[in-house]
Parts: sequence; C-alpha cells; structure tokens
Amino acid sequence: MKPRDRLRIAMQKSGRLTEPALDMLTRCGLTFRQSRDKLFCFGEGEPVDLLLVRDDDIPGLIAQGVCDLGIVGRNVLNEFQLTAGLETEPLAELRSLGFGRCRLSIAVPQELDYQEPRQLEGRRIATSYPGLLGEWLRTQGVSAGVVTLTGSVEIAPKLGTADAICDLVQSGGTLVANQLREADVLLESEAVLAGPLTLPVDERGDMLELLLKRLDGVIQVRESRLLLLQTSRHTLEAVTRLLPGGPQPTLLAVAGQPDQLMLQALCAGEVSWRQLEEIKKAGAREMFVLPVEKMLA
Ligand code: ATP
Ligand code: ZN
Repeated sequence: MKPRDRLRIAMQKSGRLTEPALDMLTRCGLTFRQSRDKLFCFGEGEPVDLLLVRDDDIPGLIAQGVCDLGIVGRNVLNEFQLTAGLETEPLAELRSLGFGRCRLSIAVPQELDYQEPRQLEGRRIATSYPGLLGEWLRTQGVSAGVVTLTGSVEIAPKLGTADAICDLVQSGGTLVANQLREADVLLESEAVLAGPLTLPVDERGDMLELLLKRLDGVIQVRESRLLLLQTSRHTLEAVTRLLPGGPQPTLLAVAGQPDQLMLQALCAGEVSWRQLEEIKKAGAREMFVLPVEKMLA
C-alpha cells in the first residue's frame, strides 16, 4: 500500500456515535470539509481526514491499514478481535471516550426465573455478537446454541427462534417492549478510540501522538471544573479538607490583605451546591465554579 502522510480516522457515517464523535474531534481542533459523497471528509488545517462508514466496518479498515484510527463501540471492537482471523493485525483500545455507553447483556423472557448462567444450558441464544457470547459461555462453562442474527434480535424469543437473547441494552425500554428482562451483563461498553498496537513511525505517528494528547485534554476538561475562592489563613486547612478530588490547589496572595488567600483548585467532576455550602461554612467566601475549556498538561 502507498505510504500516506495524512492521518485517517474512520467513524460511523450515521448513527448513535456520529454526532458525539464529530463533536469530540472538533474539540480536538480538527475541522473537515465535507465532500459530496460524504464518505471522505478532507481535514482542513491539520493533516487528518475522516472516513464515514458503517460502524461494523471500522475495526477491519484499521486492521487492513486503510485507516489509522477509528471511533467505535467497544462491543464492535471486541467482537472483531474475537472473530477476525489470526492473520489480521491485532488492534488496541487507545482511549475510552465516555459516550455511547451501553451494556451487552443476556435477556430472557420475563416469566423465566433467571438466577445463574447455568440455566442457559442447552438453550438457544440469539445475538449479533457470536464472538463475545461464545467466549462468555465458555468462561461460564455453559454450552448453549448460538443463533447469529444481524438485526431485530429482540423479537427472536417471540418468534420461537431462540429462548433468550444477547444484545445491547441502554435503558432497557426495548426489552420491556418485547416482554424480556436483562439477566446478566457480558460487557460494559462505550465508544473507544481504536488503533493499531504499534503506532506508525512517520509523520502520521507524530500527528497521532499530538492528537492523543489533545484528546486527553478534551476528556479531562469535559469533567473538570475550576473552583476559585477566598479564605483566611486560619480557615485554609478546614476549607482544603472539603475540596472535591483533584490535584493540589494553588494559593495566591490577596493584595492588601495579608491574612487572606485566594485558592484555585481543579476539581475532577461536578461541584454541587451542597459541597459549596459546606466549604463556605468552613470559612470560604467569594466562591466561583468555572467550566474548563482547554487543558494541556
Ligand atoms: P451502522 O449503520 O453504522 O451499522 P448500527 O445500527 O450498527 O449502525 P447504532 O445503533 O447507531 O449502530 O449503534 C452504534 C453503537 O452505539 C453501538 O455499537 C453501541 O456501541 C452504541 N450504543 C449505545 N447505546 C446503544 C443501544 N441502546 N443500542 C445499540 N447500540 C448502542
Ligand atoms: Zn452496525
């Protein structure tokens, strides 16, 4: 294959992951010119292009070297790893991205009193994830029939083609609508950045490293808040003890008030009203909670 000097990222063309994936790449400073066929988007500014495809094709495109990276559900990536032939490149989950969260679960008809995997012995389970289901059954020491379907898995029990299913669940609404209930979780999934195990050692590798650093910043700031407050020196310890988790706070002097300090702390998650009120009681005042836009460690 001809060497490329531009990085190519595969993502879902249209579906659950499309919007959050694009949003994340935009936050990393990438912008794209959309071409008319919408399959290939040329990256403006940075040498990074997009390939818009079906999510199921993404791991294969990376393994074949057509793309360098992909944004795809862990469920699809792991299924590929389990079912692709030995001759294909193994892939790595480079980062977990925090959106597209769901579970790959066993669901059974509501009237079945499910207690343990052994009850699935000898039954037929419909799924689009034969690799992941097969591996789970093996680790549970259960032998069951795996009925592979590409869609509408949830109606298989009603149609009599399976006794249970193994499918993605988010809220559980689809299961309830089909008189099924979640019985066991095989995999906690979310969107991940998938790539090769070893990074290319050329310009693409440099760009990839830069992109991973930006992505880490984006993931970190999404959750982060900057807390600013004033406290006197004698309440500093009590106030500091109540600060939500994060790195050590920074202390600044307040001009003209030698007893006062300004404290700046990066917090790893939301700061609630309740927490603020507690910190205030400990002696803090002039408190601000600010969202963080960019971060580069
Ligand atoms: P494509 O046309 O790209 O094949 P699809 O129908 O396979 O689309 P979507 O339904 O858009 O894909 O789901 C994409 C990914 O979103 C899933 O692989 C999974 O990781 C994640 N996801 C999150 N919640 C759910 C859910 N409730 N049902 C299905 N997938 C979910
Ligand atoms: Zn798909």
